[in-house]
This record gives sequence, structure tokens and C-alpha cells, in this order.
Amino acid sequence: MCALEYAIDVGGTKIAFAIVDGAHLLAHDARPTSGESAQSQMEAIGPLLAEMARQLGVAPKAIGISLPGPVLAGTLAHAPNMPPGWIGSTVGDFSRWLDLQAPVVAQRDALMGGLGEYAFGAGRGRFTFAYLTLGTGIGGGLIVDGQPLLGKNGAAGEIGHLSVSRTGPRCSCGRLGCVEAIASGTAIAKQYLAKSRKALDAAAVAARARAGDRLAQVVYRQAGEALGAGLAAWAQVANPELVVVGGSLAQSLDLLRPGMERVLNKRAWAANLPLPIVPAELGGPAPLIGAAWAAHQAVVTGRTT
Ligand SMILES: [Zn+2]
Repeated sequence: MCALEYAIDVGGTKIAFAIVDGAHLLAHDARPTSGESAQSQMEAIGPLLAEMARQLGVAPKAIGISLPGPVLAGTLAHAPNMPPGWIGSTVGDFSRWLDLQAPVVAQRDALMGGLGEYAFGAGRGRFTFAYLTLGTGIGGGLIVDGQPLLGKNGAAGEIGHLSVSRTGPRCSCGRLGCVEAIASGTAIAKQYLAKSRKALDAAAVAARARAGDRLAQVVYRQAGEALGAGLAAWAQVANPELVVVGGSLAQSLDLLRPGMERVLNKRAWAANLPLPIVPAELGGPAPLIGAAWAAHQAVVTGRTT
């Protein structure tokens, strides 16, 4: 029986899971993230993955889990958008709850997405690059010499919560002027509502900006500039070869890019420029594909926990 990687992508609104062969999801499904405990969610997903595997006639080689927060030594250290009970969960817990008899590796979602792009997407052959995921929130990570840069607890490179404005707006993390508070999908919708009194989501605001709506254009310009300040920090710290942009808001890169490039090119040192900004290639499944790849690598190198 063929052994393949299984992958789980835990997010604030849904938990996606798949059986993965390289960059391909052979089977996949998702469950909403409810108020249920991490244990009961994982105990539900284990048999669903086992049934998928039975239908495909495959067995698990290793399981990769993408988590919505920094992971320290296999433990989810921080997860602001998750119900209580997820923080402190460990790969050992996940392994026991899933009960699939295969080694489990876990890492922060932006790093898993970056690894997916490194292995199969826009980061192929690029040893040092930054991965930015733009959606309802903002995630970021650095792949350095082909490895995710973890730092002390896996939070390295997380530019979503880099503060770039001392005057606000207030971020969900409680601080003022984080990139996420200005440039996430949620922030874009909020700022357009404040300026125009119209409640639209970020994609609809983008459509208005393209149609010539000045207020929508201002909101996207400011979002791009906040992201540019974050990219400049990455450029100075890690000297990456390129920035790969994924997440649902990557579809509005045309609106964000001018502000991003203007601020990046003004703030970063010439030796760290140019820093090309390119769209991700794997789309929504990037964290699943990266998690499966990380699980595969862990088995190859024997570094599973
Ligand atoms: Zn913040």
C-alpha cells in the first residue's frame, strides 16, 4: 500500500484536511472551526482522514499540521483567533487525538505556506524569500537558506503585527498601528465603511477602487504603504530574494503593489533592493501542501517529534 502525507490546516473559521501527493491534494474536505475543544475537533478529523485514505487505498507516512500561531517545540504557544483550549496543545496531543499511527509535525501557518511555495510554487529554487499571506488577517514568515526561520518560538518574520503607525488604528492584538490593523481584509472593509458609510468586503472595495472610487483607492493605497513598511523591515533583516504574496487578498495585488513598492524602495537600503513582489502560485491549499512537505522532510531527515 502506498504511503502518503496527510495535512491539516487549522484556521479561525475552518479546519481543512487532505491527503497530499507532492503539490496535489488527492482528497480534501473541511469542517467549520466551532467552539468545540481542540481534542474533539481532532478526534472527529482522524476518522474522516482514515476513511479518505481507505477510499484511495493509501496509508499515512506522516502528518503535517498548519497552526494559526507560533509553535514552540511542538506546542502551539499563541493563537489569538482560536477558541480557548487550542493554546498549549502539542504534537503529542494531536497525534493521540487523530489516532492515525503516523508521526506528526506542526508549524505556524505562514511558515507552512512559505514551505509549500518553496517546494512547489513561486519560491522554487529561491533559498531566501519572504512569504506574506493576506486575508482576513495577515501572516508572514521567512524561508532562509531553504529552512523556515523560527526564532525563539516560531514567531520570527510575523510582520502582520509589526507596528508601522504610532497613531493607530488599534489592532486586535491591542497595540496601535500594526500592519494587520491597516492592510488586512478586515481592516480594509472597516476603513472603507468609516470613510464612505458603505459596508463592503475587501474584494468589493477593490472592485470599486478599480472602477474609480477615490475613497476605495485611498484605503488600498494606505494598505499597500503599511505593507511596504513591513517589507522594508524584512528586506533589512533578511535580505530576501523576493516576496511571495498569497491569501485571498493577493488578488488585489494590482491595487496594493504601488504603495508597497513606493514605501519599500524609500525605506530599505539599496543593497537590499530591488525586492520583487510576486503572487503565490499554490493558492488556498499552500499551507496544506507545505504541511505535507514539512511532514515528508521530517520523515526523510528523521526529525519528527
Ligand atoms: Zn497587532
